[in-house]
Amino acid sequence: QSAVEVNRVCYRYGDREALRDITFSVQARTKMALMGPNGAGKSTLISLLNGLEQPSTGTVTVLGQGTGAEGGRRGPLAGSRVGVVYQDPDDQIFSTTVGEDVAFGPRNQGLGEEEVEDRVRDALEAVGIADLRGRSPFELSYGQKRRVAIAGVLAMKPTIVVLDEPMAFLDPKGRDDLQSMLEAMHLMGITLIVATHDVDFAAEWADQVLILKQGRLLVSGGPDLLFDDA
Ligand code: ADP
Ligand code: ADP
Repeated sequence: QSAVEVNRVCYRYGDREALRDITFSVQARTKMALMGPNGAGKSTLISLLNGLEQPSTGTVTVLGQGTGAEGGRRGPLAGSRVGVVYQDPDDQIFSTTVGEDVAFGPRNQGLGEEEVEDRVRDALEAVGIADLRGRSPFELSYGQKRRVAIAGVLAMKPTIVVLDEPMAFLDPKGRDDLQSMLEAMHLMGITLIVATHDVDFAAEWADQVLILKQGRLLVSGGPDLLFDDA
């Protein structure tokens, strides 16, 4: 079953073409690496996947439902099925405590306080920061903030999680931790899309690799396409 289908998508900022005739699909539970140089269109594509932006032409279908004009307006469902972990955790951390921050999403989904409590506890445990619950997220390290951001996404029980450059600015220990969190999310059955510049990581981790350049899809295929002798 396809988690994501992108069909002949173009996206323009004014007359600047950020995505040009992009077509690909992602099967459920795939680990996909989204690659390409700066300006290739990765961030734009991520905004289309979570319904924040609509394609100028073409269609984006997430779990069988259109996020664009054909699918109607973006409902609360579209946003909660695709969770996005942005590159800079400070862009998605707002509350005075870690617990409140992680509770924000499920509360916004209209869940009762008991369910919200369960979601927060499970999400904090999943990323290994149950002990930070009462802390202010702003006084945490970069790696800890990243965990708070991931917990906030997991608390909404997304089917698909997109991470934008999650390896950037992490030391080797932080990268190991992040890999463990990715593996945990994979085991939860989540489809993972990771935007990354890190070829070694993509070659080792991904089972599908998509390379964009100047808004065009260069290639989509298995990670073997990243090897020199492929
Ligand atoms: P990437 O994430 O791969 O670096 P982006 O999706 O951010 O690529 O950008 C794709 C193209 O769209 C680039 O040429 C960029 O300059 C342009 N772009 C991105 N955001 C805007 C914007 N808000 N207004 C105009 N052009 C934009
Ligand atoms: P990319 O990895 O996509 O090439 P850049 O290296 O251009 O991204 O940096 C992306 C943004 O992250 C920049 O605006 C930069 O200022 C910011 N940034 C740089 N260092 C850090 C850090 N240690 N923590 C958080 N953000 C940082």
